[in-house]
Amino acid sequence: METKQKYLTEAVPSFTPRTAMEEAARCLLCHDAPCSKACPAGTNPGKFIRSIRFRNIKGAAETIRENNVLGGICARVCPYDKLCEEACSRTGIDRPIQIGRLQRYVTDQEKAFGMKILKAVEATKEKVACIGSGPASLAAAAGLALKGYKVTVFEEKEKAGGFLTYGIIPSRLPQSVVDEEVQYIKDLGVEFKFNCKVGKDITIEELRKEGYAAFFLATGTQLPKTIDIPGVDLDGVTTAVDFLAAAKPNNGDIEVGENVVVIGGGDVAMDCATTARLLGAKKVTVLYRRTQEEMPANKEELKFAQSLGVNFAYTFRPGEILGKDGKVVAITGEGTDGESKIQLKADKVIFAIGQKADDLKEIVADIELNEKNLVVADEEADCKTNIPYIFAAGDVVNGGKTVVHAVAAGKVAVDSIDEYLTSIREIEATDKEVAAEKEGAR
Ligand SMILES: Cc1cc2nc3c(=O)[nH]c(=O)nc-3n(C[C@H](O)[C@H](O)[C@H](O)COP(=O)(O)OP(=O)(O)OC[C@H]3O[C@@H](n4cnc5c(N)ncnc54)[C@H](O)[C@@H]3O)c2cc1C
Ligand code: SF4
Repeated sequence: METKQKYLTEAVPSFTPRTAMEEAARCLLCHDAPCSKACPAGTNPGKFIRSIRFRNIKGAAETIRENNVLGGICARVCPYDKLCEEACSRTGIDRPIQIGRLQRYVTDQEKAFGMKILKAVEATKEKVACIGSGPASLAAAAGLALKGYKVTVFEEKEKAGGFLTYGIIPSRLPQSVVDEEVQYIKDLGVEFKFNCKVGKDITIEELRKEGYAAFFLATGTQLPKTIDIPGVDLDGVTTAVDFLAAAKPNNGDIEVGENVVVIGGGDVAMDCATTARLLGAKKVTVLYRRTQEEMPANKEELKFAQSLGVNFAYTFRPGEILGKDGKVVAITGEGTDGESKIQLKADKVIFAIGQKADDLKEIVADIELNEKNLVVADEEADCKTNIPYIFAAGDVVNGGKTVVHAVAAGKVAVDSIDEYLTSIREIEATDKEVAAEKEGAR
C-alpha cells in the first residue's frame, strides 16, 4: 500500500461477524466484570460482550451508546491496555479479550443496519452553552439534550471534534467516524456554532443576555509548548499540534520535508514521527531526553514507528537549531551524560512536548485557575467552578488525559448542570407560589 494511503487507512482491521463471535466466545462472562469497573466512561464491556455472545447486537449497541455517546470513537482511540483490557480476567489465562475491537464491531453494525439507539427528546428546559467541541463537550451536549435542555456548542474552529479532528491521526481514527458521531449528536437536537471563539467573538455576558442559563467550559489545551533554545523561530520549526492539525484535514497533502526531527517521547511524538514518515519524509529521528525504557509512548506505537524506519536518539536534549537564510538546516543534541553531542540534518523540527491552556481569563475574567493555568474544578465529583453557573472538565481541568476521561467528565457535568438548573427552577417555582399566596391573601 502506498504510504500516504497507509496514513489515511485504519490500521487495525475490523472484526467480521465470525471473528467477532469467536472473540466474544472467549469471554468468561465474569460475574464481577472487572473490565466494566475499569472503564472511566462506564461503557460496560461485561454487559455488551454478553449481548454479543447471545447474538443480540442491538442490545450490545444500546449498552454502549447509552453509556458512551462516542462509543465508536472510543472503540478506536482508547488505551485499552491500561484500562478495560488490562483488568480483563483472561489476561491471567492467556490474553485479554479484544474489547476495543468488539466495541468497534458493534458500533459499525449499528451504523450499517441504521439502528438509531439514542433518540432526540423535546427540548423544553433552559438554554445551555458548551464551549469547545472536543469529546468532553460532545458528551456533555448529548447528555444535556437527552435531558431536554436546549444545547448550543460554540467552537472556534470550522469543524467539531477538538483533538479528535485536529490531532489523532486518521490511521487510528478516520475523520468519517468523528463526523458520523458528531452528526449523531446533531440529530439529538444539539446546535453547533463554528468559527466562534467565546471570549473574542462573543462573551459569556452576551450569551447570558441571550438566555443561556449554564455554561460548560471544555476548551482543552490548545497552545503548544516549545523550549526556548536558539533557532526556535526559524522557518521549518513547528509543533505537534500545528503539524498534525494541518495534515489530517488536508488528507495528508502537506509539505513534510525530507529530514524531520521530532522532539519528545510520548504518543503524540510517535504520531508526528509516523505521520512524517508516511507522508514522505526520507529520514525521521526522534530526539528524547531519557532512555527507551523511560519513554512514555505506547509500546505498540513505538514498534509501529520502528517498523517504518524511524530513528531514535535517546538521552539527548535539544541544544540549538541551526539555520540558513532563515530556514532550519540542522539541530544539535546534548547528551544527558554532559559530554555526548550530536548534530542532525533537518528541514523540519517538530516539538511534541505537550500543550497548555489558552488565556482562560479572556473567556471568564473571574474564573479560578491553578498554578498551571488550568481551571479549578473536581471533574470526577461535579465539575463545579468558583462561578455557580459555569462548569468545566476535560483537558482544561486535568491538563491532558485521554478521550474516554473527557467523555467521563462530560457525563459528570450533565448531572451536575441538571441538578443546578433543577434547583433554580424549584426555587423560582416556590417564589412564584409564595408571591401568588401573598397576592391571594390581600
Ligand atoms: C496529537 C494527539 C493525539 C492524541 N491521541 C489520543 C489517543 O489516541 N487516545 C486518547 O484517548 N487520547 C488522545 N489524545 C488526548 C485527547 O485527544 C484529549 O485528552 C481530548 O481530546 C480532550 O478533550 P477536551 O474535550 O477536553 O478538549 P479538546 O479535544 O482539546 O477540545 C477543545 C475544543 O475547544 C475549542 N476551543 C478552545 N477555546 C475555545 C473558545 N474560547 N471558544 C470556542 N471553542 C474553543 C478548541 O478549538 C477545541 O476544538 C491525543 C491528543 C493529541 C494532541
Ligand atoms: S473481564 Fe474479560 S473475561 Fe471477564 S467479562 Fe470482562 S471481557 Fe469478559
